[in-house]
Parts: sequence; structure tokens; C-alpha cells
Amino acid sequence: MSNPSLLILAGDGIGPEVMAEVTKIIGWFGARRGVTFDVSEDLVGGCAYDKHGTPLHDDTMARAQEVDAVLLGAVGGPKYDSLDFSVKPERGLLRLRKEMDLFANLRPAQCFDALADFSSLKREVVAGLDIMIVRELTSGIYFGEPRGIFTEGNERVGINTQRYTESEIDRVARAAFELARKRGNKVCSMEKANVMESGILWREVVQRVHDTDYPDVELSHMYADAGAMQLCRWPKQFDVIVTDNLFGDLLSDAAAMLTGSLGMLPSASLGAPMANGRPKALYEPVHGSAPDIAGQGKANPIACILSFAMALRYSFDMGEDATRVEKAVEKVLADGVRTADLLGEEGAVPVSTAQMGDAVVAALDASL
Ligand code: NAD
Repeated sequence: MSNPSLLILAGDGIGPEVMAEVTKIIGWFGARRGVTFDVSEDLVGGCAYDKHGTPLHDDTMARAQEVDAVLLGAVGGPKYDSLDFSVKPERGLLRLRKEMDLFANLRPAQCFDALADFSSLKREVVAGLDIMIVRELTSGIYFGEPRGIFTEGNERVGINTQRYTESEIDRVARAAFELARKRGNKVCSMEKANVMESGILWREVVQRVHDTDYPDVELSHMYADAGAMQLCRWPKQFDVIVTDNLFGDLLSDAAAMLTGSLGMLPSASLGAPMANGRPKALYEPVHGSAPDIAGQGKANPIACILSFAMALRYSFDMGEDATRVEKAVEKVLADGVRTADLLGEEGAVPVSTAQMGDAVVAALDASL
């Protein structure tokens, strides 16, 4: 059987710095676990624009379609702010998501015990938190037509359209139910069925998918505004939350803050299964290219490392190894190893990006 293939697109700013630490972990799997990944590397974002005049070259796009998983660092930076919209670094990322048809965006919000005091909420509300938000990523109000700014009479009107087909709702609901079966077996679906027809259809389809194929999973429905309130009040009531593109954008950012630092948050975007049964997949930290700290060895690589752990779990059926990486991160944090973004007290000395990566590798060694 051929080795699992991985395309690394480190991107801009801190992207290459945090990705270097993931590369150490990939190396560790080869040396200590006998799992060799076929790794190829390419450009995305500003660095791709610098070389090719486009934020994603066609050859890179084609390669992304062939591999088992894509791991991306971050794109963007002030150098590229004045570029035309069509070639901005973010367009490279959007093209990947669109052409790979990555319709399910998985954003875990997990609070490591050692960081519970870092959240803006009380320790007892967040300690041990482990929830997953599944956001529909390729449809809804960000894509619906008509859209634009039009003139009506003597004033302008801005229009966006919320639009969902049954099949779009069906497939993201299935992704959520499948995930729930591997976790706490609970799904809460969020929409605004009280005021939006698309919400009524969303609720109906999610319920139908549940009743037909996932009756063993506990399903509840909640209006998205009430969901936002419940996320802040008692987030541990949730296991998997499935929601549309717009609400998912807001709810996953709110959930992110429950866990403390942006430098801790991984994500996965999954599409339909390929011929080998694996879903098309892109894994990336939630954070951006952090130009304010780029090149200084200060970035926290944990979000990128945990994104790789998600790849192990969802693309490579290596759930135990994914847990091994997550436990290694947990141990390192429990031992008090902190990059600058995780330091509260004044006078404490942070470790560098590379030192954090080394500490995770050492914890992996200790796990054998
Ligand atoms: P950002 O996530 O890059 O940074 C926000 C703040 O969080 C900064 O203070 C930064 O130093 C800090 N931070 C982020 N990641 C960190 C890490 N791993 N360790 C320690 N601190 C970290 O968001 P921004 O400043 O709004 O955007 C900067 C650039 O990144 C922009 O060009 C933006 O368009 C781009 N961006 C890219 C992505 C992506 O590639 N997916 C996402 C968001 C923003």
C-alpha cells in the first residue's frame, strides 16, 4: 500500500514557522512509529503571488486535488494589502476550499485544563470543555444570488441571499452525525427557523437525516441566537453543533474565545469522499499570518500541530495517534511550557516556537 500523501502549504508570516514544528512531528512518526508520509511542499498566498503572480498556481491546485490531505499554515500580510482583490493571498485559500468543495468546516473548541484560567469565562464553565462546531462552508448567504449593491429609486440597497438546497443541508448534517458517533453521540442543530424559511428547511432536513439514518444519535434543535447565549452560559452541554455558514462563522469564533488563545485552535475542512474513501480535506490553524510577531520565533505552533492531529484522525484513520499528539500537547502545557501568547503573569519567561515544538516531540517520545 502506498504511503499517505500530504501537501504542505506553509504560506506567509508565521505560517512557515509553525509548520516547521509540524514537520518535526511528521519526522517523529517516521522515525518512532514507522509511519512515513509522502510529503510535498508548495506555495500559497503572498509567497505564491511573489513567485507566480497568483496566490495559488494551477499546478498547486491540481496537486491539492490528488493528495490525501492538505495542511496549510496561514496566508496574508501587510505587504499584500494593496493588491487587487482577485490576487489577494486569501483568494488562494478560498480557491482551495471552493475547488475541493470542502463543505464541512470542523472547528473544535477544547479547553486544556492547564489553560482554563486563560478563558474570559470562569474556570468551572470551561475546564474540560470539548465541543465541535460543524459549519456549512460552501453555500448560504456568503454565496447566494442575487447579491450586490443596487440602486432603488434614489437610494442604494445592499443585498445578500440566504439559500440552501436540501442536498447541501443533508450532506453537512451527515458529516455532523458521523462525527457525533465518534464522540459524545449528541448533535445540536442551530438555525433561525422562527424567522427564516431556509431555517425551517434546515431543521426539517436535519431531522429527516437523523430519523432515517442516525436515530441512535441524540438530536436537539436550537435557535442560533439562543445557541450563542448557551455557548457562553454553559458550553459543556454541547457535543457537536451543526449550523449554516453565517451562524457557524459567528458561533465558532465565539466558541474559540472560550478556550483562550488563537494560537491553540485547529480546524479541518472536509469534502466528499475520494476514490480511496478518504474525504477531500484541508487542515489549518484558525489564526492568520500574525505579521506583528512573524520572524521572531514567538508564534505558538500548537494550533498547527493540533490541525495535523485532526488530519491523523479524519484523513488517515489514525485516531489513537491523533490522541497521542493531543495528549503530548496537554502534557507540555501541564508542565508549564508556554509560548508568549499563553503567558499571563509578568516576568515569566516564554519558550520559542521551536522550543515548544521540541517539547511536544519530547512528550511524544515519553508516550512510547
Ligand atoms: P492573526 O490571526 O494573524 O493575528 C491576530 C493576533 O493573534 C495577533 O496579535 C497575532 O500576533 C496573534 N496570533 C495569531 N496566531 C498566533 C500564534 N500562533 N501564536 C501567537 N500569537 C498568535 O489575525 P490578523 O492580525 O487579523 O491578520 C493578519 C493577516 O492574516 C492578515 O493578512 C489576514 O488577512 C490574514 N489572515 C489569514 C488567515 C488564514 O490564513 N486562514 C486567517 C485570518 C487572517
